[in-house]
Parts: sequence; structure tokens; C-alpha cells
Amino acid sequence: MTDTRRTIPSDQAVPPLFAGIDLGGTNIKIGLVDDRGALLGYQSVPTEIHEGPEAGARRMADVVRQIADGAGIGMANVARVGLATPGTMDIPAGRLIKPVNLPGWNDFPIRDRVSHHCGRPVTYANDADAAAYGEFWLGAGREMHSLVMLTLGTGVGGGIIIGDLSIAGEHSHGSELGHIIIDIGPNARMCGCGQTGHLEAYCSATAVVRRTEEALQAGRASSLSAAIAGGAELTALLIDQHAEREDPLAVEIVDETARLLGIGIVTLLHTVDPSGVLIGGAMTFGREGSPVGRKFIERIRQEVRRRALPVVAAAARINYAELGSDAGFFGAAGLARADFHRKPE
Ligand SMILES: [Zn+2]
Repeated sequence: MTDTRRTIPSDQAVPPLFAGIDLGGTNIKIGLVDDRGALLGYQSVPTEIHEGPEAGARRMADVVRQIADGAGIGMANVARVGLATPGTMDIPAGRLIKPVNLPGWNDFPIRDRVSHHCGRPVTYANDADAAAYGEFWLGAGREMHSLVMLTLGTGVGGGIIIGDLSIAGEHSHGSELGHIIIDIGPNARMCGCGQTGHLEAYCSATAVVRRTEEALQAGRASSLSAAIAGGAELTALLIDQHAEREDPLAVEIVDETARLLGIGIVTLLHTVDPSGVLIGGAMTFGREGSPVGRKFIERIRQEVRRRALPVVAAAARINYAELGSDAGFFGAAGLARADFHRKPE
């Protein structure tokens, strides 16, 4: 995490101002930023899924108002609001379609309801696209002209930014990078989407746990077995901790995950040829600050060098993202800002 969470007083803000909302299954993160991305205020509130989407839309607007009032700005001075949600979604229509992480919030016109409660125009985006834009604007991609970002968590999210444009696609399914195919063999793994061989089926935290479980069930020796017998839950974090202690199975799982990610990234490099590729999300093995994290990213780079066309292999910059779970609300605000500057209202 960088120091982007530090707030500035409103008299130092450079207008116009933008609010960014990152709606997740557990929490809603909301920040108010100025035209340079400097933060004026921030809140995280529980999503309260059971209260339903209309109550959610009203609460998001209430929190934006609270933050704006708290900063001494007032809602009227928020030029535009950015709203990022999980898919599936219809971005042009501003609707949630069937968001897996928001049960019961299906087929809801969230963009217009948030806009109604805020009284401000709303830019609507996919949460992974917003995270990529956040990194592009203020994080690890701020020197880049274009980037591809992979977010490793429960699933594998993706975002592609090219010259300030987020690639959401004609049908709101652009940049679904977790579903690129890396295995067409007869034993290709089943993805959460119902198809086989997709990147997410190998490299999400869920998939890493499943691959480890299978190895343990097949009789592989590992210090993880004793930890699980002692009551520990098998998670990507536990696997990371045992890799730190050089448990051979944990090390092998992390290494294989990096190798498979590298294979997926080669396809993305050959599709986009971006300035760089960023790896973010909850499962980043301590990033550059940890031996496992350093080995993980270096193993990805090694696989890319081995498989990509020479110019791409030599030029590819592959790094960790910087903004952590703040990337989404910063990016949502940034996309609202990009819309504002393209078509001021
Ligand atoms: Zn899939």
C-alpha cells in the first residue's frame, strides 16, 4: 500500500472533484478525490446484501454525501460519481445482471438508482476494470500508456487499459481475462463459469487451494498436513506461509501457479502488447516484500521470456500492483473523471 490513503484538506483540492464507489460482496469502499487523485475523504461500510439493492444504492449515496459534507465540500461540488460493481452486468444499460457475489441483487438498475439518490451523474464500470484504471491513474501503472492487470482472489479478474480507455467491450464482457484458455487437454480443469481450461481454474486462490488439496489427497508429504490436522484451514495464505518455510509441496504449488499465469500472460502480451502487466488482488504472496512474492513474480517473468515473441519478451514489464484493495474506488473515481473530461456536464 502506498500513501494514497492520506487525505488532503479541501482548500488544497484541485477541482473538479469525483467520488469513487467500489461495491463488493462484503464491503463498499467509497472515496472522494480531486482532479489529481488526491484523497479528501474515505469510508468503508458493510454491504448488507440482505437489505437488497435499493437500500444499498441509497446507502452508497448517503456515504458519498457524508464524505463530501465532512470534507466541507457538499454534494453539489462533486462533479461526477464512479460506481464499480462485480459482474455480470450490462454497462451501457447501467444494470447488474447476475452478480455472483451479490445474491438477490439480480437485474437491478444500479447506476440510475445511485445517481437518483446522489443527484449526480454516475459512470458505471466493472470492478476489475476499475481496479486496473486505478493502478493506471495513480498506482503501479501511472508511468504506463497501456496496461493489462490480473487480479488474483476468489476468482481471476482482469482489466485492460489502453491510452486512458478501459476496454469493457461491446457486451460488457471485455477484459474477462480469467477466462482465457490455457489448457485444452482432456483433463483440463473446470472453471467457475462452467467451461474448462480457463486461467481462473488454475490460478485463482480457490484453484490454488483445490490443487493443493488434490496433491495432499494423492499422498504428497507436506507440513500443510500437520497444520490442517491441527485445525488450520487450507487457504492460499496458509500455503504462502508454508512456502516461506520451504515446504516442498507449497513451494511447488506457488511455482506452478506462476508458470501457468506466465502462459496466460503471453497470450495477453501477444493480444495487446501493453506497456506493462500488473498482478494484484488478495493472493500476491507478500509481493516484493517477501521471498515467496519475489520468486513468484520472477517465475512469471521467466515463463514469459521463454514463450513470448522476442520483442515482446524483452520489453514486457511485469510487476505487482500498488494500491491493494483501494484500486477499485480510486479507479471508479478516475473513470468518472475521464468521462467528465471527455464530455463535461
Ligand atoms: Zn471460466
